[in-house]
Amino acid sequence: MAAIDMKNIVKQYGDGFPAVNDVSIDVQDGEFMILVGPSGCGKSTLLRMVVGLEDITSGDMMIGDKKVNDLAPRDRNLAMVFQNYALYPHLTVYENIAFPLRLAGAPDSEVDEKVRKASATLELDEHLERKPGNLSGGQRQRVAMGRAIVRDADAFLFDEPLSNLDAKLRGQMRTEISRLQKRLGITTIYVTHDQTEAMTLGDRVAVLKRGVLQQLATPRELYEQPGNLFVAGFIGSPPMNFLPATVEGTSVKLPFGTVDIPAAKAEKAAGKGLLIAGIRPEHFEDASVVSSGREGHTFRAKVDVVEWLGNEAYAYIPFEAPPEVQAQLTQLEKDLDGEAMRTQLVVSLDGSSRIDEGDEAEIWVNTDKIHLFDPASGENLTLDAGRAGTLPAANAMQAAEEVGREQDQASSSEGTTP
Ligand code: ATP
Repeated sequence: MAAIDMKNIVKQYGDGFPAVNDVSIDVQDGEFMILVGPSGCGKSTLLRMVVGLEDITSGDMMIGDKKVNDLAPRDRNLAMVFQNYALYPHLTVYENIAFPLRLAGAPDSEVDEKVRKASATLELDEHLERKPGNLSGGQRQRVAMGRAIVRDADAFLFDEPLSNLDAKLRGQMRTEISRLQKRLGITTIYVTHDQTEAMTLGDRVAVLKRGVLQQLATPRELYEQPGNLFVAGFIGSPPMNFLPATVEGTSVKLPFGTVDIPAAKAEKAAGKGLLIAGIRPEHFEDASVVSSGREGHTFRAKVDVVEWLGNEAYAYIPFEAPPEVQAQLTQLEKDLDGEAMRTQLVVSLDGSSRIDEGDEAEIWVNTDKIHLFDPASGENLTLDAGRAGTLPAANAMQAAEEVGREQDQASSSEGTTP
């Protein structure tokens, strides 16, 4: 096992496009690290540079204390588990697991010992003589991991291993991978675009956008202390609500009223003009089920739609964002593949709430939980000091924004060319 340290990694493809832009991630020995972000953010490219399938344009890739930039994949001692498992259909489970040992010319006794040990760990003993075609998706996944285990690799690398599976099996496999990783204690880097996988599997999560690291932190830190608008919108389902806000003293003017926020937060956001407030759906509640005396703000709002799920309900409250923040929120929607909502508030209510569609309802909001973002840079102005993991330098994010805008302009002008 080994730590993997990515230092200022840059990848430029032939056309000069920076697919990975100055990314530094220190994966600790035995850590489960997630690389997550929307399609095209550079997560697979980064993983391929770790394993040696892609050249590094600049920066240092360290495995243990060895720089591996110029080492061939076979000399890096890493085990990659692919989406399609890459099993040999004509070989038994036993021979599939044994494959890397046979390739290395290991004696039969060593092969047998290692395969049986791996199969016991993976609970595959009763399937050793079967062919992969007759196994379930989950069992095939374990065979692929068995092949990685017998190699005594320094780390496991996964590239979207569960994306072919149906939702139920994905859930099961997620738990299984988590359990195995903990049992084996092996350094793991796992690429996904699925925030549930990121949040449930990772010791830490690196969120990427357009090749730039946005935040590197534990799942809890990402959720509670998102470093910028992008991370705030990407992590959480339903996503965080974004609303126009102006701060005066400790008061924040929001579309549904003026609320007081903690002085320490207000200070950081004072004098910045129009901002974007972020409030998670669960930080609202039906005012009638909130215990009296609980601090917060209550307001009246017309509820458009209610989705009742049993244990909770989502209420939708339309509002209009002013033009000054529309542009930023539209861009955010684009970055998040259309997930952010800018014209309606999504409010999570207790399952016992009787609020109904069309009601003029009393809604409570936990004002301690309001985040305030700078609309120009996207930066979260209200972070708790030292609790947000690693945030990249503002200029790196700015550079990525500019590349993104140039690309958008290029594609929109292509679209208008007669
Ligand atoms: P996905 O989830 O869709 O696989 P990703 O986050 O893994 O996305 P990458 O595959 O790493 O993204 O791609 C990052 C960027 O690099 C993309 O903009 C992509 O178009 C570009 N890219 C990837 N491979 C090449 C290549 N061989 N040549 C040129 N550009 C490439």
